[in-house]
Amino acid sequence: MTRRDCQSIEIVGGGLAGLSLGLGLRRRGVPVTLFEAHGYPRHRVCGEFITGLDGVTIKRLGLAPILADALRHRQVVWHHRNQTVQNQRLPVPALGISRYRLDARLAEAFVETGGDLRVHTRVALEARPAGRVFATGRRPRPSLWIGLKVHVRNVPRGGDLEVHLGDQAYVGLSGIEDGKVNACGLFRRRPISPGTPPAPAFGLLFHYLEASGLTALAGRLCEGELDASSFCAVAAVNFQMEPFRPGRLCLGDSFAMIPPFTGNGMAVALQSAALALDPLSEWARGGLAWADTVAAINRGLRRRFRARLASANLLHPFLLEPWRQFWMAWAGHARLLPMRLLYHLTH
Ligand SMILES: Cc1cc2nc3c(=O)[nH]c(=O)nc-3n(C[C@H](O)[C@H](O)[C@H](O)COP(=O)(O)OP(=O)(O)OC[C@H]3O[C@@H](n4cnc5c(N)ncnc54)[C@H](O)[C@@H]3O)c2cc1C
Repeated sequence: MTRRDCQSIEIVGGGLAGLSLGLGLRRRGVPVTLFEAHGYPRHRVCGEFITGLDGVTIKRLGLAPILADALRHRQVVWHHRNQTVQNQRLPVPALGISRYRLDARLAEAFVETGGDLRVHTRVALEARPAGRVFATGRRPRPSLWIGLKVHVRNVPRGGDLEVHLGDQAYVGLSGIEDGKVNACGLFRRRPISPGTPPAPAFGLLFHYLEASGLTALAGRLCEGELDASSFCAVAAVNFQMEPFRPGRLCLGDSFAMIPPFTGNGMAVALQSAALALDPLSEWARGGLAWADTVAAINRGLRRRFRARLASANLLHPFLLEPWRQFWMAWAGHARLLPMRLLYHLTH
């Protein structure tokens, strides 16, 4: 079948799921148009470490050159309210790379392979013609949580990756490119006192760090050089399973968002794209009806991610709620936390 005979795929959303799917399809000769509401490069709220990304997914999507220089993180140091609780050695190294760099590289590779990328184009989410894939990220809903992130240079480090548990909050510190560290936290929203100065914007992060009892971490970050241009915030973060909508193909966070502490959301986005490649290529070549394509992919998504999402959602309150955190910290100090098992359940 020639390219002209091949049906075209439309992807709405150019985050990791959308871009990697577009790239994979283009490498198989499928015509793809991708609509992205914003542009590249841009900073995004994300811990910027990728755990559990398997070699098969990297190969299927052709991501090896894009991830080649990502940092390899092996050691995670867990802290609770300014005290070290546990050192964890990851069974597989996590990758450290900024979204600023990763998304832009994927977008460039997609265009280089002949993909039609329409940036600054927001598409209505309701229309559902055959051949349209939604990779639009998490659906904003009223929520108690806010995500904040900033890049810092010259900050003293205590491990490849650090996770700090505070009162209704956790913050990850992850090394990324050019000697920078990404500090990214999920916090329960709190009122900001009228006396709090509005500027600089990343002052909001320090407000939340102090309010969550993470004063030592706030002090350490203050010693570094904060990159104000990288600061970003996202509200309306929720972790409920999205209602299943038959006939609609949703990948990545728009299928389901795994809690950020796992560092696995980006892997889920990429793995869901890899899983959709074969059925979508077959549909494009006329070998499968659209309804069957969507049904096959949705079955695959549920089979691959259901247990992982359920485990991560069950554990999430232990990272946020003070009395559960105290229990976790005690178990960590006593070396009773089955870190390997917990890792395998959530990846
Ligand atoms: C606080 C926080 C920390 C996190 N830390 C980590 C981490 O350390 N490691 C990890 O693996 N994961 C982490 N995650 C999760 C990770 O960021 C997501 O799982 C990942 O970005 C999902 O990719 P995606 O492509 O599905 O969605 P996104 O990356 O959100 O991309 C969706 C894209 O769709 C576009 N879009 C939306 N609507 C439209 C429309 N109507 N028309 C056109 N375009 C549209 C958006 O502009 C966006 O670019 C974190 C999340 C949060 C909130």
